[in-house]
Amino acid sequence: MQVAVLIEPQKLVVEDRPEPRPEPGGLVVEIKAALTCGTDVKTFLRGHPKIPLPSPLGHEFSGVVSAVGEGCDNFSPGDEIMAVHSAPCNKCFYCQQGLQNLCESIMDTKVLGAFAERLALPAAVVQQNVYHKPSLITFAQAAFLEPLAAVVHGARVAGVAVGETVMVLGAGPIGLLFTMLLQQEGCYAVVVEPHKKRREMAARIGAPQVFADEPAALAAVRELTGGYGADLVVECTGVPAVWQASIDYVRRGGRVLLFGGAPPETQVSFDAGRLHYDQLQLIGAFHFTPADVARAVDLLTSEHFDPAPLITSSTSLAGLGTSLRLLSVGEGIKTLVHP
Ligand SMILES: [Zn+2]
Ligand SMILES: [Zn+2]
Repeated sequence: MQVAVLIEPQKLVVEDRPEPRPEPGGLVVEIKAALTCGTDVKTFLRGHPKIPLPSPLGHEFSGVVSAVGEGCDNFSPGDEIMAVHSAPCNKCFYCQQGLQNLCESIMDTKVLGAFAERLALPAAVVQQNVYHKPSLITFAQAAFLEPLAAVVHGARVAGVAVGETVMVLGAGPIGLLFTMLLQQEGCYAVVVEPHKKRREMAARIGAPQVFADEPAALAAVRELTGGYGADLVVECTGVPAVWQASIDYVRRGGRVLLFGGAPPETQVSFDAGRLHYDQLQLIGAFHFTPADVARAVDLLTSEHFDPAPLITSSTSLAGLGTSLRLLSVGEGIKTLVHP
């Protein structure tokens, strides 16, 4: 079968590899839709500390079950499924604390390789994070399950509540999904994004107010909140300067969700006086739990949540390298890959 393999940064080739076989309790999915994400773009450009090369890429997908392993009772060949690519062990310290997103083995047991004709999913994933795809949503929509689960997790740890005014910094794939979720949850999202095309996309997916820079957005937030500032700021750029500035937009007693990942060991600094006297909460968020995945399934299968507009191009495996290059220079949001 055909698999897109990253040999070295910026060198993606399509290889013919042996057919995957399902492990006991696992299954093999024939990929019908896969999506690029920021991690794929970064890995393509520079490599990734957690992904030794050469490696297959791609972790956002949906498809049809093509084979099941012994003891896999919930799925049969021909079933249409949506899934994420990881599952917690449920045995380690963090899993026992209910922090399955921080599971000690979740990053080591995750599977990559959705940019391929078929992908084997292990038993742990099948037991916890594979769902039947209802026919009312498309494979492309179903492939948003993984990034949406991450966004659902972020919203949960940030304690998003109905009626809040939220400033979203950055309208890349994650900032846009966040904006959609915030609107769905009854918040009022004010989006900041320097790139015109991304601002247009933010408006298209329902952001009520979109600005090119922070001062203009802050003025709007002040107007909306009687001068106080945002209840919550969601940082989705991963740029250290934006992380640092994010506390300037939040009201006293407010929260800042630092969602955009910056490289490890990046240093940022904050005004200690503001954190203390204004009782600000800085919140980190990583990955998601099976409960977050379940919530994301509910959202995707409801009629009101359609992330498909975030797909700005599509390609075969052969054109994927070119697509990743274009995404890396800010052309487009997400590419749909048809293996
Ligand atoms: Zn992703
Ligand atoms: Zn664990």
